[in-house]
Amino acid sequence: MTRIVIENAHIAPVRGPEIPDGHLVIEDDRITAVGPGPAPDPGPARRVDASGCLVTPGLVNTHHHLYQWATQGLYQDATLFEWLTGLYDTWAGIDAEVVHDAAVAGLGWLALSGCTTSTDHHYVFPKGRGDLFDAEVTAARELHLRFHPCRGSMDRGRSDGGLPPDEIVEDRDEILAATEAAIDAYHDPSFSSMLRVAVAPCSPFSVSEGLMSDSAALARRKGVRLHTHLAETLDEEEHCREQFACTPGEYMDKLGWLGPDVWFAHGVHLHDADIRRFAATGTGVAHCPTSNGRLGAGIARVGDLLAAGAPVGLGVDGAASSELTSLAGEMRQALLFQRAVRGPRALTARQALELGTLGGATCLGRQDEIGTLEPGKLADVAVWRVDGYRAAVEDPVCALVFGPAPPVELLLVGGRTVVERGELRTTSADPARAGERARRRLVGGRA
Ligand SMILES: [Zn+2]
Repeated sequence: MTRIVIENAHIAPVRGPEIPDGHLVIEDDRITAVGPGPAPDPGPARRVDASGCLVTPGLVNTHHHLYQWATQGLYQDATLFEWLTGLYDTWAGIDAEVVHDAAVAGLGWLALSGCTTSTDHHYVFPKGRGDLFDAEVTAARELHLRFHPCRGSMDRGRSDGGLPPDEIVEDRDEILAATEAAIDAYHDPSFSSMLRVAVAPCSPFSVSEGLMSDSAALARRKGVRLHTHLAETLDEEEHCREQFACTPGEYMDKLGWLGPDVWFAHGVHLHDADIRRFAATGTGVAHCPTSNGRLGAGIARVGDLLAAGAPVGLGVDGAASSELTSLAGEMRQALLFQRAVRGPRALTARQALELGTLGGATCLGRQDEIGTLEPGKLADVAVWRVDGYRAAVEDPVCALVFGPAPPVELLLVGGRTVVERGELRTTSADPARAGERARRRLVGGRA
């Protein structure tokens, strides 16, 4: 048995009281004790002196498009629809190598900002480019991050009234077969699972009504979760009203897409009725404030969603609409955006930390396994340095959320060290070089 004892730390377990000077004991992949003062008789163990550090659950990223690492910095001043129509043709050139290298870079970057579990929503599958789903799974295994890849899809091209060009959409039956094959090959429902697959048609404006319905049926038959983009911009609301004569929220409700097994990306333009329905059904929202700000989409009503009781997590979204965004930074963005719109009591530092941890875990249906520091849970733990300059901030949780992301002293996934003193320990590959390689292969040299 491997035992790790983290001591002398400020512990923010997210559920239960904070411990200003406490310990955390880990045995193999589980947390076995959390308490004040030194650990009682820990026996043989790796001892970590976390003086000057804040210990939190590892962060959970609930929305991403890892392949977009290769197309950052483009269409800087575009709306979502302008940005998408500009990028689709470039994305049509991806292959397994680009997807793998971009995923190594994106996941490495996430780990360095305290993330222990990430989703990915991959929905571009050009024909004959290798096994793109396997390429990103391989990257996540190399880095040892807990991974929830969502098999995305698009089947409604321009000739059917959708937004993407016809060349990059797939046939509905092929999509459903490939999605089921991905679930059969990779999905692990066990408690300590490192990989769970979700079914994730891309959005109401790139997917047919039939594929939306069939996807929900497939996910429920296989016992996996459902994910898509929803209510991201007012252009989407207009599109839904024109094409379906209802709002995006009403459309998904009509298709049976609300429930405790569903989480939507964005949910920026939700109506009061949507928020009530989300809360009543346990439907989650992946809040992506940097991306929403970058694209000028508006900002989600996070305070209202939380007050109603809907699960809310955080997401960095694809790097092409949130260049180099760290997941820890999304806690700060969430807090500042809510306050900018609704005043200084709209979201607290502790609520922002909960969005980044337990809220995200709940969106992924893993609230019993990760998202808090409690005995019996998986040892996904972030140890942040809040000494040095940050020691001048009275409250370590305030230093983490209000300030720029602190350095990660230690990051454990299932008790295994992934980051130590700000460096990745699970891979000898250089994620930054992998990211640059992906960009060069897809878009060529820097313009
Ligand atoms: Zn997205």
